[in-house]
Amino acid sequence: MPEIRILDDHIANQIAAGEVVERPSSVVKELVENAIDAGSTMIDITVEDGGLQFIRVSDNGSGIAASELKKAFMRHATSKISSGQDLFRIRTLGFRGEALPSIAAVAKVECVTATDDSGLGQRIVIEGGEVKEFAETAAPKGTDIRVKELFYNTPARLKYMKTVQTELGHVSDYVYRLALSKPDISFTLKHNGSVLLQTLGNGDLLQVVAGIYGTAHARKMIPVSGEDPDFRIWGYVGKPEVTRSNRYAITTIVNGRYIRHYGLVQAILKAYHTLLPINRYPLAVLHLEMDPILLDVNVHPAKLEIRFSKETELLALVEQSIRSALLDQR
Ligand code: ADP
Ligand code: MG
Repeated sequence: MPEIRILDDHIANQIAAGEVVERPSSVVKELVENAIDAGSTMIDITVEDGGLQFIRVSDNGSGIAASELKKAFMRHATSKISSGQDLFRIRTLGFRGEALPSIAAVAKVECVTATDDSGLGQRIVIEGGEVKEFAETAAPKGTDIRVKELFYNTPARLKYMKTVQTELGHVSDYVYRLALSKPDISFTLKHNGSVLLQTLGNGDLLQVVAGIYGTAHARKMIPVSGEDPDFRIWGYVGKPEVTRSNRYAITTIVNGRYIRHYGLVQAILKAYHTLLPINRYPLAVLHLEMDPILLDVNVHPAKLEIRFSKETELLALVEQSIRSALLDQR
């Protein structure tokens, strides 16, 4: 047997990138989540050629201090948790400290950031994990990250990328879910110069729904709300006459994080019971809020899956809240 070695950071980051950065939409997701965690009220996303050539996310959030900027791109570097205990009270979308180093390991990244309105900020350029430039620069408050030539140094991964249209579909899907999860943030998504989504950031979830699914569908949404001592539910579900052939128009959001959860979808479908034609699925945007102690988000590298500790009670409340909203309508 060859001797056992501890991998250097560069290889470790490339391995982590394999999990965290599956395709352009994963980069968009991670960068936008960082912008949300930074307290931004405006987030602009620009992609070219489905994100394979170019992704830019700029925000008006807290910015990163010049003295912290190199650290932000290091492995397991995060400002969001500091102890194991914190894992059980997570209120931010990120906490693993893996996104920036992973992205920088497999792309050419430029980040310009400033923490105040002095007009002065810091710029860093990293390519394939190597810092190429680091200097003071003029910058507005917030962070502006550009990711170019994703997977330029990992040809095997690049080969897996689908058409521009497919990659763009994944990107817009994520941005839509993020916009639905944060109606109080103004999002803009542009692809090859055209605007695909613009939300106002005024907190009105139904307006975001209208921006994504169209006003005709938005008019056919019913408000849902429910509460018990542990959980609060709010959002909208479509009238049974508005259906889809798949479940992609069901969005479940837990404490502001878009997640996929089989049981939750089943509870939503059960609430419709016989109201839906066979093999048809409703539109739904459901926000669930609870004490973070009641969930485990640390089960999936992209944090898309979570575990609830009072799942039965939660699913019952979801089903019952939607059922009564649907019955009230008739
Ligand atoms: P995580 O989000 O898990 O903490 P990341 O690698 O995504 O890890 O980011 C590392 C750190 O860089 C974050 O903890 C945060 O302090 C900082 N950071 C990243 N993006 C932004 C941003 N858009 N605005 C402000 N700070 C940021
Ligand atoms: Mg992050």
